[in-house]
Amino acid sequence: MDEADFPLHVESIAVHAGRAVDPATGAVIAPLHFSMTFERAADGSFPSGFSYSRSNNPNRAALESALALLEGGAVAAAFGSGMAAASAIFQALAPNDHVIAPLEAYHGVLRLLRDLFARWQLAVDFVDMTDLAAVEGAVRSSTKLIWVETPSNPTLRLTDIAAVAAIAHHAGAQLACDNTWSPILQRPFALGADLVMHSTTKYFGGHSDVLGGAVVAREANEFFQRVREVQTLGGAVPAPFDCWLIHRGMQTLPWRIRAHSANALRVAEFLASHARVERVHYPGLEAHPQHDLALRQMNRFGGMLAFELRGDRAEALALPNELKIFTRATSLGGVESLIEHRQSIEGPETKTPANLLRLSIGLEHPDDLIADLARTLAS
Ligand SMILES: *Cc1c(COP(=O)(O)O)cnc(C)c1O
Repeated sequence: MDEADFPLHVESIAVHAGRAVDPATGAVIAPLHFSMTFERAADGSFPSGFSYSRSNNPNRAALESALALLEGGAVAAAFGSGMAAASAIFQALAPNDHVIAPLEAYHGVLRLLRDLFARWQLAVDFVDMTDLAAVEGAVRSSTKLIWVETPSNPTLRLTDIAAVAAIAHHAGAQLACDNTWSPILQRPFALGADLVMHSTTKYFGGHSDVLGGAVVAREANEFFQRVREVQTLGGAVPAPFDCWLIHRGMQTLPWRIRAHSANALRVAEFLASHARVERVHYPGLEAHPQHDLALRQMNRFGGMLAFELRGDRAEALALPNELKIFTRATSLGGVESLIEHRQSIEGPETKTPANLLRLSIGLEHPDDLIADLARTLAS
């Protein structure tokens, strides 16, 4: 896309970012470049700007420029998974740097900090991010990064991104936001975040058929250069076809996320009214303890929700077996609806309630999803 001389809406950016008609063939859709090496000129230079596919390649470069434009950052680095992207941010820190992380977040990221980066002398404190005084109290002179994920996995607690960004910047630290659950729905850079991380496996890919991750930075600064070094030297890079799929998925992301959000709100309202449901965790419900913050910080409330069944662990584990449309599977962000008993997958340290089921609401008709749940809850 050539730089438009008028401001574009996010839907238009999603369709056109990182794309141009192929000058060699006129192809409207970008070709897939499998070549892992690129010819040098007679003087030894690389006229295309590409030399070796781990360092960069046309499909990754196109995806990265699109990710940066869509998120409103300056630069982006694409990775082979969300975990590789998160790792790159932690690897760009130095030993003895202090990180403040949430008590509740994607369990893989928490384990990464607790089990892997602790061995590399990263100092980490886990705090309740809904308690700003606790966040402020955890700051040390060595604090270099605050990590937030909002809404959080799996009970959809919200973090006030602007408030935590102010705490981070006052401490001379950066704020990183795992925005996997809320692309388009919230704009972390506009709220003061310095880094945005995505598992593009989820809503960007959008069809449950590709793994990927991204780090987007507000500024192309020295810290981002270290992330780039981890990417190209560390080598946890996505294959060209994976970049192509994620870039394709991104084109429909703004419209899909609207439909996911509308469907999830309908399902959340239905569950909240049901006698067999003890509690629904969804920021779009007025009963959510941080609904006001959700209205301030998000333009819609996303496709993820969780509910607690009136019943025990066995009943919560059994309920998905009766559903016809929802599939029992982990992950999220695809067109198909998924249901998952989180506690049984999160390992021994989990604080997730035993009666909690997490739903990734897909793009089926909401009446069908509600009918499926209604029939199952009545049986
Ligand atoms: C899935 C997920 C990750 C990890 O991403 P992968 O692509 O599975 O490596 C990180 N954070 C959140 C919030 C996620 O949902």
